[in-house]
Amino acid sequence: MDAEARDLTIIGGGPTGLFAAFYAGLRGITCRIIDSLPELGGQLAALYPEKYIYDVGGLPRILARDLAKNLTEQGLQFGADVRLEEQVQQLVTVGDEYIVTTDRGRYPTKTVLIAGGKGAFAPRVLECSGYESLLGKGVEYHVRDPSRYAGKRVLIVGGGDSAVDWVLNLKDVAARITIIHRREGFRAHAHSMKLMRDAVAAGNVELITYREVRDIHGDACVNSVTIFDNRTNEDTVLEVDAVLSLIGFKPELGPIANWGLELHKNTIVVDNRLATNLPRVYAAGDIAHYEGKLELIATGFSEAAMAVNHAVHDINPKARYNPGHSTNLKIFKDREAAEDAAFEDGSPS
Ligand code: FAD
Repeated sequence: MDAEARDLTIIGGGPTGLFAAFYAGLRGITCRIIDSLPELGGQLAALYPEKYIYDVGGLPRILARDLAKNLTEQGLQFGADVRLEEQVQQLVTVGDEYIVTTDRGRYPTKTVLIAGGKGAFAPRVLECSGYESLLGKGVEYHVRDPSRYAGKRVLIVGGGDSAVDWVLNLKDVAARITIIHRREGFRAHAHSMKLMRDAVAAGNVELITYREVRDIHGDACVNSVTIFDNRTNEDTVLEVDAVLSLIGFKPELGPIANWGLELHKNTIVVDNRLATNLPRVYAAGDIAHYEGKLELIATGFSEAAMAVNHAVHDINPKARYNPGHSTNLKIFKDREAAEDAAFEDGSPS
């Protein structure tokens, strides 16, 4: 069955898509964000949550994770519908409108904004027996609920921020944490590395380098893994209840490449309104291409604002393209007046 229709469907919940959702709400149109990842934030959350960003206007320095959190708060304040862990597959034309289809649903929409960055992030998978068959039965590539690891023996595989962060977050929850990495060097934040090495020295975490997973064993759920030393090929069997494979994500433009959009390498060609060659379909952020393009968060913000304001005009040709200044907008003034009135009443707003 089709989901409730929206004025705008935003493909991608990275910084560009989230800022677009904010602008959609500010202009009074309904929107929905669809992302293949389990959390919002795009590259900020998936690739470099613990890195500082220094070139977002007005923020001298901010952790990518915190910027993603702030963008989510700002972007969802008007009630955007969010669909996570769904990869967009098709764009079907229905008269003057579209249905965006994913692997799990059908989403009718008047306009579309593709803010897909480098494409849908698919998890890099462990190439070993047992990974596929035990996925969801102890093998995971993302932590949904840390409490599920309470009292469990957990193997974490990876050498980046995500692997190290989850070692730190789960070390007081799990019964035992072992982290393996295929090299000596890690690509994680220096402070997190220090905390992890402290935990190893205190005997709370086992760290083994030059190890990879050969097999994951279990029927209904994981019960052990065979890891091997990639210098000597020697096997070791570890009894574990869970395997967290945190070896990163790889972007794929995927089915969007077959929609009849004008492409430039792995990006979508847009005009100076951020419009693609398909009617009422816009693209913004890293995925949008024009001469002189800079792939920066700041660029994505500006493009999101432009694309949404042009989409508003498509939906209602009488609506002005220019949104005005947020400092003067009625939508915020009304909200502040309601908050002031609630404060004077003594009741929470
Ligand atoms: P993304 O952040 O890539 O988000 C796109 C989202 O769309 C993803 O979540 C993806 O899963 C989703 N998606 C794509 N296709 C589909 C589909 N078919 N179905 C469902 N979902 C889909 N920029 C700066 O300005 N300053 C910096 O300091 C900086 N540092 C960086 C450091 C690193 C290590 C990296 C990798 C990048 C850095 N960048 C920096 C670049 C910046 O992160 C990107 O420009 C920005 O994330 C682009 O935002 P976006 O929303 O366009 O795309």
